[in-house]
Amino acid sequence: MSKFDFDLFVLGAGSGGVRAARIAAGHGARVGICEASRVGGTCVIRGCVPKKLLVYAAHFAEDFEDARGYGWDLGPAKFSWPDLIRAKDREIDRLNQVYLRLLSEAGVRLYPSHGSFIDAHQLRVGDQTVSAERILIATGGHPWVPDIAGIEHAITSDEAFHLEELPGRVAVVGGGYIACEFSGIFNGLGSQVYQLYRGDALLRGFDHDVRRVVGAEVGKKGVELMLETTVEHIRKLEHGLELVLHDGATLEVDQVMYATGRVPNVRGLGLREIGIEVRATGQIVVDECSQTNIEHIHAVGDVTSRVNLTPVAIYEGHSFADTVYGGMMRPVSHEFVPSAVFSQPPVGSVGFSEEDARIHYGAIDVYRSEFRPMKHTLSGRNEKTMMKLIVDRVSQKVIGIHIVGLDAPEIVQGYAVAVKSGLTKECFDCTMGIHPTAAEELVTMRSPVRE
Ligand code: NDP
Repeated sequence: MSKFDFDLFVLGAGSGGVRAARIAAGHGARVGICEASRVGGTCVIRGCVPKKLLVYAAHFAEDFEDARGYGWDLGPAKFSWPDLIRAKDREIDRLNQVYLRLLSEAGVRLYPSHGSFIDAHQLRVGDQTVSAERILIATGGHPWVPDIAGIEHAITSDEAFHLEELPGRVAVVGGGYIACEFSGIFNGLGSQVYQLYRGDALLRGFDHDVRRVVGAEVGKKGVELMLETTVEHIRKLEHGLELVLHDGATLEVDQVMYATGRVPNVRGLGLREIGIEVRATGQIVVDECSQTNIEHIHAVGDVTSRVNLTPVAIYEGHSFADTVYGGMMRPVSHEFVPSAVFSQPPVGSVGFSEEDARIHYGAIDVYRSEFRPMKHTLSGRNEKTMMKLIVDRVSQKVIGIHIVGLDAPEIVQGYAVAVKSGLTKECFDCTMGIHPTAAEELVTMRSPVRE
């Protein structure tokens, strides 16, 4: 009989924690898990899922306009923000119940409380003490905002999902995933959107053609893109907010949403006291099996800040459980992780950007195509799709694919298998296209771009 209450105790019931708990329990471990908020974590409760629902909602504005080119005559469209939020909340409640059921069916004991370390094997969970042979930290992250005067008047994505009304004028600060996604959501739903970004092109880290095309397309859709702009402070007005910018100019809006990055949830866990190695940024240091510097304590997901994406956290959690409880050795590779930005138009990307490929591989071939998608021949919308393949000249392996345009995330998810598997340009060339699709472009690109 074990001297511990549990074989495994998981801190945090988000994507990574829940997957690890269920798989470990399936391998026969006695598992407990604690969660102070709602089970499901950032992705399900206040991230990917509700965001994507709002993205769908926002896209209807364009769909109605585009329908005219196809012979539809629609009356004036009316939109209700409260109805959308209520519908979205119902779906999130449903998913929350699914997660609760999954845990219970797996035999995992849930504690609806915050947990923290008493020592390396004991945790305080709410007002109880539990002990575990192994502990998994999967506490995720939360939005970070800069410390400027008046920042208390700003919201983050957490609050954006629960606004009582759609802001008439909204400033979105940041140029990353969340800022680009929310400026598209607010713009599509009818707000006047100002996107303020300190750099000279959105989506730093992405391929330069992606950044160029997203900037141009977002601007065409009506988002007022204010590049090389920073907010010095925020003042509350009788009606709305005033942003004072770096050059003394001011901008009046009804809401300001900061999307300036996220940081790991490590405060109050007692990590330093038990000697877990944590970087200055809060990120827990782990090896490729998600093990910390303490042998029986592991960490997965955003709290380790490796690649902060839900499927990565799930993969890390699953691999941890299989490795420790399933007798398999499953280290996690973070190479060629595909990702998407659900901006409008969206981005799908896997592998190296052109810039990074030149650094890592030296000689590369770049194939690029920019075209008006077939849907917009009749809709008349002036929106471009951009597709790009990066090929290592020596091995001829395709090492990067970047798409901006309709269905980009869906297309890249499929092609990511080819890139992850190391397929060559010749494999792409001998694959038949499906006509007429946009994705066929990727198997019909014949000549590298001459720079
Ligand atoms: P990102 O790191 O993507 O972007 C942060 C943005 O804020 C950058 O544009 C950054 O500028 C800017 N910024 C940082 N500090 C300041 C500051 N002090 N003043 C002004 N601007 C600042 O973070 P997000 O919050 O957008 O998203 C967090 C993470 O969540 C992402 O990295 C991603 O891993 C994940 N995510 C994934 C999604 C998806 O898969 N579709 C969707 C949403 C989130 P600069 O570029 O100059 O540093």
